[in-house]
Amino acid sequence: EPAIDPRRLDPAYTVRFGDGSAMSMRASLGDLQSEVAQISPRDAERIPALFAAMERQYRNARYNFIEQPFNGIGSLLRPRTLKGLAAALPMTSVYRFVARNIEDERVRQALTFQTLYLGISPHDCPSIYGMLPYVELEYGVWFPMGGMGEIAKSLVRLVRELGGDVQYGTAVQEIQVQGRRAAGVSVRHNGAAFAESVRADVVVANVDTPTAYQRLVPAHLRRKYNDSKLARMEYGCSAHLLYLGVRDLQTSFGHHEVLLSSDFDGSLEAITRTRELPRDPAMYVCIPTRTDASLAPEGHDVVYILTPVPHLGAKVDWSVEGPRLRETVLATLERRGMPGLRERIVLEREFTPADFEARYGCFNGSAFGLSPLFLQSAYFRPHARSEDVDGLYFAGAGTHPGGGVPIVLTSGRLAAETINVERRSLVGA
Ligand SMILES: Cc1cc2nc3c(=O)[nH]c(=O)nc-3n(C[C@H](O)[C@H](O)[C@H](O)COP(=O)(O)OP(=O)(O)OC[C@H]3O[C@@H](n4cnc5c(N)ncnc54)[C@H](O)[C@@H]3O)c2cc1C
Repeated sequence: EPAIDPRRLDPAYTVRFGDGSAMSMRASLGDLQSEVAQISPRDAERIPALFAAMERQYRNARYNFIEQPFNGIGSLLRPRTLKGLAAALPMTSVYRFVARNIEDERVRQALTFQTLYLGISPHDCPSIYGMLPYVELEYGVWFPMGGMGEIAKSLVRLVRELGGDVQYGTAVQEIQVQGRRAAGVSVRHNGAAFAESVRADVVVANVDTPTAYQRLVPAHLRRKYNDSKLARMEYGCSAHLLYLGVRDLQTSFGHHEVLLSSDFDGSLEAITRTRELPRDPAMYVCIPTRTDASLAPEGHDVVYILTPVPHLGAKVDWSVEGPRLRETVLATLERRGMPGLRERIVLEREFTPADFEARYGCFNGSAFGLSPLFLQSAYFRPHARSEDVDGLYFAGAGTHPGGGVPIVLTSGRLAAETINVERRSLVGA
């Protein structure tokens, strides 16, 4: 029995621009070119060369950085790293990289907004991440039938098959240390009066790495990742989420829709630099029932809306601004393609940056974690092997290589390989 049942989507998604025009991100280069041609025939001719450049970035990023461990200063001097750095030059922004090839502002937006998956503006994101549209085209945008939760469930099955255990409702309260070495964790089960100790030879922390340092590692051991260093690092934007159950949904929207703001730059500036709620927010709309109708009762749909917003450094009072933003989002959707949405909602859940912090331990309530800036990437990102505590390792978006499910899984592999190498050298010694 296959672990998950993924279906490739074509179009992967449709980008709707502020002026009312739209472009579908199709699953083949030829079809994508035809879409671009409807907006800008001159740019359509340049698509193959641009995607070839993106493919070079992808190969460079994957083989010279993403899949390599960066635990020591020596990793910077590896021939592979030096070759990769040279190939990444000239280091510019994703927006400039695309704008060098593409003239039409809408096509530029459609091929650069993807940096928001990493919580960063395309104007600030290093050009090596310009590869994202290529990755979507080459490897596809897929939906696991049953929803994203099926991926988590299949991983849990795998862990158990391999002899591991997964305990839910159990919070790690502290990483216990002896001297400078991790010796275990203290955990507290939901509803339990007391914490209990779990001894361990090594500890791998998957909670957001800055949070792990701030809340779980005793302060006197944090020589590098002390509170002032954590405060100085740059964190990506966050997200306001609405999960809706909708009866008799009226829309021509597909599974994934990206609604860009008529003020593309202004909305990016607001969420990432000036840290205000954007007046005309961009949003991502997902209707998974378009692909898997079993996710809702007959005649109903699931609609999930993500609006990029600043992280908690913005001091927005979400108990006040959340309901206001909800109104803006729903009114915008009614205007841009979902008439009568509000009166058709039968179920609703809201999720704000404050929830990302409280429920998942995201530092600063940033949904996307540490920004992938040059000086926060590879060797300069928190290492898989803690620089402050021996025997402590990290996996997850806050360590190398960064955010996104496949990349986070790679961080788990790199952490495991790092531990194995070190254990072998200890045993051999
Ligand atoms: C709205 C949104 C949509 C996204 N969509 C996609 C997508 O479509 N595709 C994609 O590839 N990526 C997507 N991403 C990015 C992706 O979800 C993240 O990069 C990834 O989940 C990060 O994995 P992680 O293991 O680092 O952190 P998490 O997934 O946050 O896992 C960390 C876990 O640690 C738990 N935890 C925290 N503190 C403690 C504690 N003290 N004790 C025990 N447990 C604790 C948390 O509850 C959490 O379950 C999306 C992100 C967001 C916010």
